[in-house]
Amino acid sequence: MKLTRIAVAAVASGAALGLAACGGGTSGGGAGGSTGGGGGETVKVGIKFDQPGLGLKEGSKYSGFDVDVANYVAKELGVTPQFVEAVSSQRESLIASGQVKYIVGTYSITDTRKEKVSFAGPYFIAGQDLLVRADDTSITGPDSLKDKKLCSVKGSTSAVNLQKKVPGVNLQEYNTYSLCVAALKAGNVDAMTTDDTILAGYAAQTQNQGKLKLVGKPFSTENYGVGLKKGDQAFCDQVTAALKKFISSGEWEKSVQKNLGPANYKPGPGNPPTPTCQL
Ligand code: GLU
Repeated sequence: MKLTRIAVAAVASGAALGLAACGGGTSGGGAGGSTGGGGGETVKVGIKFDQPGLGLKEGSKYSGFDVDVANYVAKELGVTPQFVEAVSSQRESLIASGQVKYIVGTYSITDTRKEKVSFAGPYFIAGQDLLVRADDTSITGPDSLKDKKLCSVKGSTSAVNLQKKVPGVNLQEYNTYSLCVAALKAGNVDAMTTDDTILAGYAAQTQNQGKLKLVGKPFSTENYGVGLKKGDQAFCDQVTAALKKFISSGEWEKSVQKNLGPANYKPGPGNPPTPTCQL
């Protein structure tokens, strides 16, 4: 038993090193990487730290659907991930500067972002929604936001979409979604807007139960992709292959149930999607 495990580990680690060396050769050196022992090269991977069910850091523990995706991709690449917080507005620059090798952080694939980074995906499709206080009956969708104070995050598609949909809307843009949740609970804003996945996670947190509710009428399509260095075809293909395997192996379904199930979140139409490399 013991011997078998060691043998398996040796083979796995040998394969991992081979892959890592190969990846390094084709992508011209490991961005943000260092050579670690045992688990292959250590690479910096951007995730969210404050989004329950998606990317959450509690002490030294990381959990969520995006964390599962990030770990699965790393395993397929034969590298050891080292997680770094990637807030929405910093994502393109973290990738472009090589401070992270890739980002899995509720990161919507858009043409504007594709001018600076490339994506492997989509690996999940979400939709933009609204989160309000549980006793609020006045907000039923984007049409009821005139004269309301909204919160969203800098550099997100959520902020841009809302401003297009509700011209002149009173929108405060914070750095993170958890800051919006605090402002909503404190009564400093009337609603917050971003992907339904993120909002469902906050609504389900013990401390928010009975205090916050999701409006439940998604008004955008958010295609989540793994962000990576612009034009790195070889790496993009590797990540795409890993995402396809994540889905076909059943791990996608398991991870969705484990991480989004507790918030009673059901993936909408189009899920699971078919990832491609989008340079
Ligand atoms: N998916 C949207 C975006 O990429 C909103 C969530 C986020 O900011 O991470 O902008």
